[in-house]
Amino acid sequence: MNDILPPDSARWEWLEDKVRSLMQRYAYRNIRTPIVEPTPLFVRGLGEVTDIVEKEMYSFEDRLNGEQLTLRPEATAGVVRAVVESNLLYDGGKRLYYMGPMFRHERPQRGRYRQFHQIGAEALGFHGPELDAELILLADALWKELGLQQVRLELNSLGQPEERRAHRAALIAYLEQHQDLLDEDARRRLYSNPLRILDTKNPAMQAMVQAAPRLLDFLGEASLAHLNAVTAILDANGVVWSINPRLVRGMDYYNLTVFEFITDQLGSQGTICAGGRYDDLIAQIGGKAAPAVGWALGVERVLELIKEAGLATATPVPDAYAVVPDAASLPQVSQVLQALRGAGVSVQLHSPSGAAEGMGSMKSQFKKADASGARFALVFGADELAQGVVTVKSLRDGSGAQTTQSLSAVAQWATLLQSTD
Ligand code: ATP
Ligand code: MG
Repeated sequence: MNDILPPDSARWEWLEDKVRSLMQRYAYRNIRTPIVEPTPLFVRGLGEVTDIVEKEMYSFEDRLNGEQLTLRPEATAGVVRAVVESNLLYDGGKRLYYMGPMFRHERPQRGRYRQFHQIGAEALGFHGPELDAELILLADALWKELGLQQVRLELNSLGQPEERRAHRAALIAYLEQHQDLLDEDARRRLYSNPLRILDTKNPAMQAMVQAAPRLLDFLGEASLAHLNAVTAILDANGVVWSINPRLVRGMDYYNLTVFEFITDQLGSQGTICAGGRYDDLIAQIGGKAAPAVGWALGVERVLELIKEAGLATATPVPDAYAVVPDAASLPQVSQVLQALRGAGVSVQLHSPSGAAEGMGSMKSQFKKADASGARFALVFGADELAQGVVTVKSLRDGSGAQTTQSLSAVAQWATLLQSTD
């Protein structure tokens, strides 16, 4: 679990701003659900034989009433619970997005943390493949907006339960023939969740898994038509995709379309965004059956990729730095600064950090002004204040040019101070 400190936190805000603006353009609305949910929500929602439920959840007992609670390991289950509880689908489908911390007790390593952050988008109450495509287009647009290029899209279809049943029988028969190659996890899942064996990360099992029966070959007409409708929209928009028949995803709730956005720039933790359709989850959690599709991206991994690609993100600096030679003028200066901030100017007040008396020398104040990155210094000297003016000195263009501005007409010159980028 990490602290996110300035200046790094600015990159987080930068990403969040980009996401908000994009979600607005796709008409997705923000939802915020609690960090803590009843444990059975995840056990029912994600499936008992999944990595998350088997070993990654932070669960505890509520001391007051003995209720079993869990720090959310992902947000889809909570979003669905909230949608069901508030009957949000009463007047039709909803497009929602969220951002926030998730918790999984995993072995910490690059790109894998115990508190990490996801941004997710969910479209609930829509059955059409155009929603699967819309969500993929949205994610693809985000990579473009962020300047990320080395991201590829892998797709698969998990079909419907009856198609998975037929495939499952063939898969178990195949895996039984290769018992000797199965690791401990795979042996345990052979009969409980054989599909998950296909997305093993164990290199020793790769060749065997590559040759296993493909779920794709067990899909009926309707499932294939759904997949084709999704890819037709992606093709029409120039989104490059490939089919990965072994892509199954970690949660049990998926059906039909599943997808991952993957990069080779981050080592083995290369999946930056993953999602798919989950038409049975709402009913499973106790709501009236309704289809849904969504994805979640890993914020830490996306930010790491941005860093890796050498892309610049905005670093915030104040527009102006207030140089105040005499502490006695602070009440009057503060009024001017409040007026400037009210007019949209970002102003940092000089404040001496030591216990030494006074505001510090002009020289040391100008040094701090420079270091702040501000484009202007506002000099509130005693003489200036007595005349009802302030000196505005340019710090960045090398000219050192200065003007004198009236304290009684702040709004008239405030705009001059604001950066245009
Ligand atoms: P993985 O196969 O890497 O364990 P997952 O299938 O468990 O991923 P999801 O539950 O689909 O991942 O979560 C969506 C995204 O959230 C992942 O693609 C990844 O970018 C990010 N993510 C998942 N777990 C972590 C973690 N422990 N630390 C940082 N990011 C994570
Ligand atoms: Mg995982």
